[in-house]
Amino acid sequence: MPPIAPLEIVTIPCLSDNYAFLIHDAASGATAVVDVPDAAPISAELKRRGWTLSHVLLTHHHWDHIDGLSALLADHPARVVGAASDAHRLPPLDLALNEGDTVTIGPEAAQIIDVSGHTIGHIAFYFPDTGAVFTGDSLMALGCGRLFEGSAEQMFDSLTKVAALPETTIIYSGHEYTHANAKFALTVDPDNVDLQNRLSEIETARANGKPTVPSLLSQELATNPFLRGASEGIQHSLNMQGADPVDVFTKVRRLKDTF
Ligand code: ZN
Ligand code: FE
Repeated sequence: MPPIAPLEIVTIPCLSDNYAFLIHDAASGATAVVDVPDAAPISAELKRRGWTLSHVLLTHHHWDHIDGLSALLADHPARVVGAASDAHRLPPLDLALNEGDTVTIGPEAAQIIDVSGHTIGHIAFYFPDTGAVFTGDSLMALGCGRLFEGSAEQMFDSLTKVAALPETTIIYSGHEYTHANAKFALTVDPDNVDLQNRLSEIETARANGKPTVPSLLSQELATNPFLRGASEGIQHSLNMQGADPVDVFTKVRRLKDTF
């Protein structure tokens, strides 16, 4: 058997700062979209590439991730997949999944990870063969989602699960918030040279109109303050030397809320 080709992934900017993603397997033609902020740009991309939508993967119930769904399905019927625990407030699901379940796109079984915190019943889709995880508003480039429904402990546990994936995993998150996130990150981790360098890369990308999503997990581990509660530099700058990483995370999240 030849090795399975990784799935092709296309980033689609939607609304003012959201991202949707197409996931495509050339051999079978299977095509999934992750989140549907707006139908038009997703339909346009499907048409441009001549791809037929087979699955919609929903990360969480917020309007800016599902609002385009009915319009998209009207032109592109597909199986809608989301969290079983959130089925009561998601659009009707054809497949309702829990952590540890899988959904198969072409040759690859994506694993469901519960990443509650931003909302309860927020899930991520991890594609181990492709080396990609779709995190919605949980782990984001240099950030994490605001705690609208869950506790800091819950988000910390969710981020810890994503952080334990292979370092080469590519993180596809739901928003272009990276520049503001970098500005905040430097206030709690000012001496982090990797972070300083990342800020200039982000400024260059944004000046050229390029997305800063996706990012690499190894990059997040080195620079994302929400994954770095054990970092001496951050503990020192917050006057929390020797503190439990979950308490450092809680403090960093609280500071970001008012930044
Ligand atoms: Zn959200
Ligand atoms: Fe969002």
